[in-house]
This record gives sequence, structure tokens and C-alpha cells, in this order.
Amino acid sequence: MALVSMRQVLDEAAKGGYGVGAFNVNNMEQIQAIMEAARETKSPVIIQASRGARSYAQDRYLVHLMQAAVELYPEIPVVMHLDHGNGVATCKSAVEQGFTSVMMDGSLMEDGKTPSSFEYNVKVTREVVEMAHANGVTVEGEIGTLGGIEDGHGAGVSGLAHLTDPDQAVEFVKLTGVDALAIAIGTSHGAYKFTSKPTGETLKMDRLIEIHKKLPGVHLVMHGSSSVPKDLQDVINQYGGKLRPTWGVPVEEIQLGIKNGVRKINVDTDNRLAITGAIRKVFAETPEKFDPRDYMKPAREAMKKVVALRMNQFGQAGHAGDYQPLTLEEVAKRYK
Ligand SMILES: [Zn+2]
Repeated sequence: MALVSMRQVLDEAAKGGYGVGAFNVNNMEQIQAIMEAARETKSPVIIQASRGARSYAQDRYLVHLMQAAVELYPEIPVVMHLDHGNGVATCKSAVEQGFTSVMMDGSLMEDGKTPSSFEYNVKVTREVVEMAHANGVTVEGEIGTLGGIEDGHGAGVSGLAHLTDPDQAVEFVKLTGVDALAIAIGTSHGAYKFTSKPTGETLKMDRLIEIHKKLPGVHLVMHGSSSVPKDLQDVINQYGGKLRPTWGVPVEEIQLGIKNGVRKINVDTDNRLAITGAIRKVFAETPEKFDPRDYMKPAREAMKKVVALRMNQFGQAGHAGDYQPLTLEEVAKRYK
């Protein structure tokens, strides 16, 4: 099986009424963890790399690791997605490298920090849609601005500062033709999302439901949607870590989103926490060890557990074999 179009994976998710986790990777072990979880749960997967990941790992390493994944797991549809492309050139280079889906985040200027105008966002996103769709590649856009900063990307403001305006979202989709839309409803990137369990005041699920009612045919994307579970925080702190108390997006809120048009859920922090906790535990309990495999193996296993759990919770489990993946050429023809 070749890498597949995200549009197809999300269309199928909409038909089946489930969501698909999009997990970030920087290295081989994270890709292996996701693929093992996908095999165990029979899930289609979206694996995504940010600009930071591309510069850390280099595109050629990432692309070849992803190709190894589709060779070794032929029963799993795999999407390779660019997370938070900051401009047309970044998205274009991803398409040229073999990514099958790109995010053009025109909600921020090219510096990845300054909130942009609606007109700018429409212009750059439209340009990426034309380029990507000609190649059968999916495009995710963003309207409104997410909170926090990750990998140097983000306005660094509260998740509530620039919530998505539902009417503007309708206009944006009409003008750009995006396949999927990231919306701002109060979530933030990183581990420190909420200072207590989120309420309707801090996590605006009502806004999401309103947007879905106006755009029932558009695949919505929840960014910054790690749940930051206390048990993962506790392992880190128990073995010498220093995380401040923090709350993420509760799984039941994500499940409410999935009932209301959310098809892609971005999760990174939970996996980072699982990996770090597992490594800290080995270092603390067996300080005489120095073979990287002694801590990378349990780290990979810890991430696999989190990913498999999310795949079950999002409902994608069991759906890997539901459909025959289209080639990107076929998808490109359909866009025409
Ligand atoms: Zn994001």
C-alpha cells in the first residue's frame, strides 16, 4: 500500500462517524509506536511532522521511514501530513517530498507568530489548495488562532484570544476549497493548556457545534488535543521530573466533538509525556544502564499504549480494512 490521501481517510471517517488521531513524529521509534498501535487496533493512521520535526529529522529520513512503515504494515492506510505549514513554499516542498496532506496555517504570518488578516489567510490557503489538489494532496486550513507556542510556532496568546467566528469559517471554506478546517475553540499547544479541568467557559464546545451546523460537510480538526492525563504526569514527577499541575482536553469532550464533525484530532504532548516518563523510570531505577535500547524500548512501548488507547477512544479502531485506498492520481482527477 502506498501513502494515502487524508481526504479519503477523513471522508471514510465521516461516513463511519468516527475520528482519526493525528500523531506527531520526529524519529523512528515514534513511527514504530504508532504503527504497532495501528496494527493492534486495526486503525487507519495519520502521522504528522511539523516544520520543527522536518528540520530535526530531515525530510528524506522521514519520508523513507514512512515508506518503511507502509511496506511493513500493508494492511494499514497511512497518511503523511505536514503540521502547521507556514507558507506556500513550505507546503510545496512537502508535496514534492511525498507528503500526502499538508496544513497551510495562514492564521499566522510566515513568521509563525503574528496573527494575519482574513484576506491574507484566504490568499495563501487558496494558492496551496490549487497546488496540492493538482497532485491529489489534501489541504487543512486554519481559521481563528490557537493558543500557546510549540516548536516555535504560535501566537503565544490564550486559546480564547482569537476564537473562530462561525460565519467567517463558512466564508473561508467557500473561498479556499480546503478539505479540512482547524478551528480555535480554546485549546492550546503544549502541556499547559488549562489550569483546572476545562469548563464551557474555557473550552468552547458550543462554538464547535455551531460551526459544524453551518459547515456540515467540512471535516473539522481539533488541535492541541492531548488529554495530559495525570497518571502520565505522575510518572515523570515520581522519577525526578518537575511538571506543574496541568489539565488537557478531556477525552469525553473530544468524543462530543467527533459527534459534531471533528474527524482529525491532533495529539503530541501525551506521547511526549509517555516517552519521557518511561525513560526517567529506567534512569532512576537502573542508573547503571547505558544502552539506549534499554530506555528507548520501554519509551516506545509507553507511547504505543497511549496511541492505541486514543485510537479506541476516537473510534478509528477496526476501520483499517474498510476501504481500498485511492492513488493520488485518482484523487487529483476527482478534485478536477
Ligand atoms: Zn496545531
